[in-house]
Amino acid sequence: MSEPQSRNAAQLTLVAPRRAKPQRHLADMTMAERRAAVAELGEKPFRADQLSRHYFAKLTASPEQMTDLPGGIRERLASQLMPSLLTPVREIACDGGTTRKTLWRLFDGSLVESVLMRYPDRATMCVSSQAGCGMNCPFCATGQAGLTRNMSTAEIVEQVVAGARALAAGEVPGGPGRVSNIVFMGMGEPMANYKAVIGAVHRFVDPSPEGLGISARGITVSTVGLVPAIEKLAGEGLPVTLAVSLHAPDDELRDTLVPINTRWKVAEVLGAAWEYAAKTKRRVSIEYALIKDVNDQEWRADLLGRLLKGKLVHVNLIPLNPTPGSKWTASRPEDERAFVRRLEFHGVAVTVRDTRGREIDGACGQLAAAAPEA
Ligand code: SAH
Repeated sequence: MSEPQSRNAAQLTLVAPRRAKPQRHLADMTMAERRAAVAELGEKPFRADQLSRHYFAKLTASPEQMTDLPGGIRERLASQLMPSLLTPVREIACDGGTTRKTLWRLFDGSLVESVLMRYPDRATMCVSSQAGCGMNCPFCATGQAGLTRNMSTAEIVEQVVAGARALAAGEVPGGPGRVSNIVFMGMGEPMANYKAVIGAVHRFVDPSPEGLGISARGITVSTVGLVPAIEKLAGEGLPVTLAVSLHAPDDELRDTLVPINTRWKVAEVLGAAWEYAAKTKRRVSIEYALIKDVNDQEWRADLLGRLLKGKLVHVNLIPLNPTPGSKWTASRPEDERAFVRRLEFHGVAVTVRDTRGREIDGACGQLAAAAPEA
């Protein structure tokens, strides 16, 4: 809050640095592109269908298991179209093994994290879309290190496939299961890596074996509020849930908490959100991290309630998760309760999010991907 807004604004990075790209993977491609790629490698196009069935339906991890392909071409096709893009560096679990955070190394040494959260009725993968983040929100650990690069579509998809494999293999307590929900709430700003993120959403929702066959309703794209990208997303015909990280109802405070607000103001962001809701008929989520004595005053709850009143919206209050070097902490319980009551008074649907993964630094805003010490 003490940061002058000009300094924050100057540190926004909307365009990712140009870096070497990861190897191409069939998860980067549409079915037609996969068939063309297989043909280019001198094989019959139907091999692309076999590879897709292995990758998206059977979740096959190693070429030896692809016994319906002749031995000679198995290795070659797999190394060309199913390269392993993520190397696990470290895995930490909590909640009796039902929350697992994985640190991944990408081909160029970049580090990203994903989190698998299993509940009695669903399993959610929280994925990263960029290595680092350029949005510089002062309360978020990811923002502090800046943006390294955009992830490719396949690098995003591989995080979900890894989670799907762990669930299918029965590695997560609760018996064999499937990924039912995906949230773009890991590292990065998904709307600043638009093309790769949309590609990943297509792979998630395309019916198996072309894609993973996950319902668009179970997918949430969370954004700081890049208005042109939200408008574009509304026209994709992909009814995913939009989550807007608002964190303040007034421009003065939001300029400091979510620096992109210096470019697109609260009214513009909410305008784009309502248009999104109208076009997709999907309820928009408003994310609001409650920070003690910063954004948790009753008058701000009241202002927020008046902005959201009567809209197709749901508010997720997130008790602030601690991040290294930050002086801010979560709101007092009584202030949190008063905040909820004010919103309910305006008839706004509100829940307080549970902070799964806090003790493994796997909760919202805690993903920073430091390499493990030796
Ligand atoms: N860049 C996107 C997606 C990643 S963050 C976005 O900002 O929406 C996912 C959510 O966690 C966002 O709502 C973000 O504001 C919130 N968050 C970040 N740091 C947090 C913290 N320390 N405590 C609680 N929530 C936090």
